[in-house]
Formats: sequence, structure tokens, C-alpha cells
Amino acid sequence: MPVIRVALPLPLRQHFDYLLPDDIQVSQGCRVRVPFGKRELIGVVWQFNPDSPYELSQLKPVSAVIEYQPVLSERLRQLLSFAADYYHHPLGEVLTAALPALLREGRELSAYALTGYRLTTSGHACSAVDFKRSAKQLALWQSLQQGMLNETALLSQHSRTALKALLDKALVERIPLPRQPYLFQGLAQSALQLTVDQALAVTAVQQAQGRFRTFLLEGVTGSGKTEVYLQCIAPLLERGEQVLLLLPEIGLTPQTLQRFTQRFNVPVLAWHSNLSDGERLNCWLNAASGSAAIVIGTRSALFLPFKKLSLIIIDEEHDLSLKQQEGFRYHARDLAIKRAALENCPILLGTATPSLESLYNAQQGRFSHLLLNNRAGGQAMPAFELINLKQQQLQFGLADSSIRQIRQQLSLGKQVMLFLNRRGFAPALSCQECGWLTECRRCSAFTTYHKHSKQLLCHHCGASRPIPKQCGHCGSSRLAPVGQGTEQLEEHLQQLFPNTPVTRLDRDSTRRKGALGALLEDINQAGARLILGTQMLAKGHHFPFVTLVVIVDVDGALYSADFRAPEQLGQLLTQVAGRAGRGHDKGKVLLQTQHPEHALLQDIIQNGYASFARSALLERQQTALPPYQHLALFRAEALQSELCQQWLQAIADALRPDPTLQLMGPLLSPLERKAGKYRWQLHLYSRQRTALHHAIQQLLPELTRWPLSRKIKWQLDIDALDLS
Ligand code: ADP
Ligand code: ZN
Ligand code: ZN
Repeated sequence: MPVIRVALPLPLRQHFDYLLPDDIQVSQGCRVRVPFGKRELIGVVWQFNPDSPYELSQLKPVSAVIEYQPVLSERLRQLLSFAADYYHHPLGEVLTAALPALLREGRELSAYALTGYRLTTSGHACSAVDFKRSAKQLALWQSLQQGMLNETALLSQHSRTALKALLDKALVERIPLPRQPYLFQGLAQSALQLTVDQALAVTAVQQAQGRFRTFLLEGVTGSGKTEVYLQCIAPLLERGEQVLLLLPEIGLTPQTLQRFTQRFNVPVLAWHSNLSDGERLNCWLNAASGSAAIVIGTRSALFLPFKKLSLIIIDEEHDLSLKQQEGFRYHARDLAIKRAALENCPILLGTATPSLESLYNAQQGRFSHLLLNNRAGGQAMPAFELINLKQQQLQFGLADSSIRQIRQQLSLGKQVMLFLNRRGFAPALSCQECGWLTECRRCSAFTTYHKHSKQLLCHHCGASRPIPKQCGHCGSSRLAPVGQGTEQLEEHLQQLFPNTPVTRLDRDSTRRKGALGALLEDINQAGARLILGTQMLAKGHHFPFVTLVVIVDVDGALYSADFRAPEQLGQLLTQVAGRAGRGHDKGKVLLQTQHPEHALLQDIIQNGYASFARSALLERQQTALPPYQHLALFRAEALQSELCQQWLQAIADALRPDPTLQLMGPLLSPLERKAGKYRWQLHLYSRQRTALHHAIQQLLPELTRWPLSRKIKWQLDIDALDLS
């Protein structure tokens, strides 16, 4: 019997080989059922006749084949193998990210065919008088006389009870329908007249059709990047090709979905973590059959089995949420670029604030650089004004001149947006007598005071407890909030502007399903006046009526130890500011700070992100930090701090002789303890990516055998972004 290697959705770093009985025929990419311990698992045939480390006598035979059509094409298998190698992650977990749950459970695809309804012979033999007692049944019968209807179309016009009645009388029958490739029926809304820069970008992407090429579209906020996407897509739809648009945030999908469906008369599907298993499989099948024209999705959409993928677009390519922060820590941008290479199609990375990695790739000539330097409607870029908090009276954390300018814009009927990146009422409660602060018992962090939900909440581990009545140190009952979060600012704004509605947008106010959509709608309809929120506000939204943006407090980020902090602050400031003045009226941004002389603030304000980013990149070169070196991070977590340190030290000792590597650590993570566990890291830097990967590759099999590796929780993070 031949041997096959099966990829099983398990978090294990090992191969799973099976015997293939003579009476079972499969090809690579098909699902099979295999024995695993006492249970059976569903896996995907990965390779024939692998170089198996096992004796033949140890191998068990495959139990059954689920279908003879591969669920993973060769290209997708290549992508997953690449990802598993590159991130040094078990193939099984990569597979889990790529296959919808229902497929991993072994459901048969035939169970998910679409359903159509048509009249039976006796149905055709009926006449209208047969339905004289039911107008609804008559209407359905008349519709079906025109021909078959699919389930969605039928139920959108007719009642389910009428359908059931006709099915019961055997006048109507169900038939399975294959999913058909979509048909493009022309634009639903005409395209805008492109600006010269937009037109150049569209032409460049179109000329790369049918070839792999990566474009970095660096366009200032409001420069019309979405219009560029739309016009790159239009000619592809005429040819029946498919497009993937990746977004960092699920919150952006409804708005974007709407913009795309308004323009094109084609099926545009969403893909994100809030879909049910059934909806996910439906999207997966529609991508595979070509019946989805455009998929708009978050990270894992890049693994969808498109039939004819011709363009990938990543919006907000700099956004950290594109990198998965737990388990299989892949970067969706980087894997999407690999996917485009395998599909031989162009990929377009859009942003107003490119990541230094992408900027570097553009400078090196690996990415083609496209620029949109002006706002599409000719609006001016918003002007910054630094508000020196040291010289001003403060009321509730707002400077007098900020309050004055807010009042002025409100009196003109404009919208004002305030940005404060701290949810809750206050970052901690403090004792007025002894200075004691409320801390999480399980993390090295303070607990946020949430006034509405009446609790102290740890934003790191999620633990909550009731508000204490007394100081935990001296017993005094004089506890007061320190610092300001969005809940508090909301209260204060209501006091300052009692006749103006205040809209708060943060994780707490948008938890309910549909809440975010409703708030955004209110902002876009100009119902909302004073809008206040966290970084949720910064992400790609088009708010045409906002004329003034107030950045309440970002000083905490100015002196961070993380080498990426300046880049991230630069992006945040630029993105938040970019919400101002997108409509007819010019926008203004007030930046409140205790450090108006700070070089980063000065650079951003005077020269803009593009210039700031180029000098930041130069600094990374001088300090030999990414992207000039490649970074991999080992993380260890355990109840006992020493175990983590020892384990990382053993790695450091093993790697130290390698001259191509530069090690930093073991060191305690900035957040030293989380959910009761101590956290340590070891940084590995190298100028040569291959050398770095080779060293890790050599070490991993050995490391997984160390007894200590089983006593701690460890992770390897390739191209780590989050150093917390
Ligand atoms: P970005 O994503 O670059 O921030 P958007 O795509 O949201 O910008 O576009 C900002 C605004 O400019 C939108 O209202 C859009 O309709 C408008 N716009 C885009 N391109 C053009 C154009 N060529 N002419 C006129 N208006 C445009
Ligand atoms: Zn905690
Ligand atoms: Zn006290």
C-alpha cells in the first residue's frame, strides 16, 4: 500500500502519515477521514510517498475519502506550505485558519448546494381555479409558471407557508442548483472622473494585469484611494474575474461593502469573524465556484479558494490588525503578497501612512510606488495647531482654546471629533490619602474604572471586580479616579455643551451587534454633533461633516521604549487628523500636548507623514532595526518567572555561536505579568533572512524535545510587531 501524508488540523509539530488502501483513490488536496488515537479526524491529503520517518508497520490505513474533488487547489496548498515554513508553525494550525469549520468537521459539500424550486408535471397541469382559496399559493404558482426560481429569489417574493403547501401537494419540487459564475451587468452607478494621479495609478495597475507585481499606493487621507480600487476592478468584472479586498477591521466592512455594491451590479461578499459557520462556508463555496465577484474580508479571507483571482487589494496596509497576534501569527499583507505571486496577479497596498516595511520595499524597488499627493475633491489638507497645555487653563482635560474652537464650530452647525485612546471612565482609582492605585491581581497593570458598568476592569486579562469602598493599603474611603477615559470625557462634554448631543465610539459603546453601524450612519447623516472615540475613529472612515478634530492626549506614546512607537504614533495622528475637512469645509486639527517641542510632533505637523516616515526609516537604518534587520521573537510565559528566563537562556546559548544573528535578552516583557503568568522575550535580529530562518529551523526540533518546553507556554513570532 502506498503511503500518504495527511495535514490534520492539530497544533502539533509533526507529520501524519497513513497507508492508502488499494480500493481508495484520492488526489492531493482531497479530504479524507483517518484514525487518530481513539477517534477519527478529517484531514487533507498533502503528499504522496513522503519521506516518512515511521516504519510501515506503524502506519494505519486511511478510513474513507470524503470527496474526490480537492478542497484545496495546488496553489493554496503551496501557500499553506509556504506559510507553515515561513512562520515555523504547525501545518495543522495553518490549515485550521484556511478551511471553514464545517469542512474541517467533514460535512459533505453536496449538502450545501443551492436549492431551486420548479413545478412538477401535476403542478403544470393545474389551473388558477385550483388555488381559489389561497391568493398566496396562486401567486407562487403563477411565478413558477415562468420557470424555476432559486430559494433566495423565491422567498424574497413569496411566503414560506405557500411554498410548503405546494411542496406537500407535490405540485412543486426541489432541485439542487450548481453555483454559477456571476454575470456582470454593467455599472450600477457611473464612475467618477479621475484626477491625473488617480488615473496614473489605475493605468499602472491595469498594465500589470496577468502578472505578479506589488504596488504601494501612498495617497493622503481623502485622496480617493477607494475610487482607484473601484476603477481597477471594473474591467476585471467584465471578464468575469474575481477580486479580494482585505481590510484590517471588521468594523469597516459594512461601509465598504455598501460602496462596492452601489457601484457594481455583482455579488460582493463579506468575510469576517462574525459570520456563522454556514455563512462562512457559503462565502467559501461562492469564491470557489466563481459566483462571488468581490470578497471584502479580514485577514483569513486571503485563504479563500477563488476560481479566478485577478487582483488583491489591501486597504490600510499599515494597520497592525493585519497581523494575527496569537497562535498562527501571520501577517495578512505578507501572505497576500505570496498569494498574488502564486496567482500571477497584481496586488495593491493602499494607505495614507505606509508602514516603514512597505516604504522600504518601495525604495528598494521591490514594490512599485504610486502616489496621490492631493485630496480628490481639491480640499486642502487639514491644518494642525499645537496646543501647549503648560500655558493654558484646563477644564476637564481640555484647554480653553480647544473649548473655544469646539464651541465655534458647533455654532456653525459643524461636527467636531475628539480623539482619546483610552476607554472606560479612568485608567485607575487612587487613594487620596496614601496614593494607592487599583491594580489587577493577575497582571502588572492598573485596572480601568468603568463607571457605567460599575466595575474595575483589566484591559489585559479581562478580569473584572466590583468597585472597592476602601483603599487596599490604608483603608481610607477617599478613592477618586485618576486620569481620563472616554466615558469621563463624554460626561464632561455633556456638561460643557449641554444642548449638544455627544456620540461616543469605543469598544464598549459598540459591543451590541449593529451598534457601530448605527453610530456611523448617524455621523454620516450629520445627526451626530460632538463625536468622541478611541482609535476606532481613526480607521479609514469618511466623515464628510467633520471640520474640527481635537486630539486630547497622546503624550503617553511620545516616550515609549518600543522602537515602533514613533511610527505608530505618526500613523495614528495622521489618520485621526485625516478625518477632518473631507467635505466642503476646510478642516483643522488641535493637538493638545505637554511637549509641544517634541521632535516627532514637530516633524509630523510641519512636514507631514511622508517626510516623517522617510526620516524614521533613516533612523532605523542607523540603529540597524527592522526593516534593515529581520526580527524573530521567542516568547515564554509561566507562573514561575525563572522557568521562562531559563528556557530563553537555553535558546540564547544554542544560538549565540551563530555570527549572523544578534540576540537581545532574555528580558522581561514590558507587560511583565498577564493573567497570573510572567512573560519573557528573546529577540533575534539578523540582516539575512535566510540565515535567521535556517537557525530557527535547526533549533526547533531540538527545542521541542527539551523537558522545559513542556513546562512553559511558548511562542515564536516571526516579523514580530507587538513587543508588549
Ligand atoms: P481615501 O480612502 O483616500 O481617504 P476616499 O476614497 O474615501 O479617500 O475618497 C474621499 C472622497 O473623495 C470621497 O467622497 C470620494 O467620493 C471623493 N472622490 C474620490 N475620487 C474623486 C474624484 N476623482 N473626483 C471627485 N471626487 C472624488
Ligand atoms: Zn489583568
Ligand atoms: Zn490609602
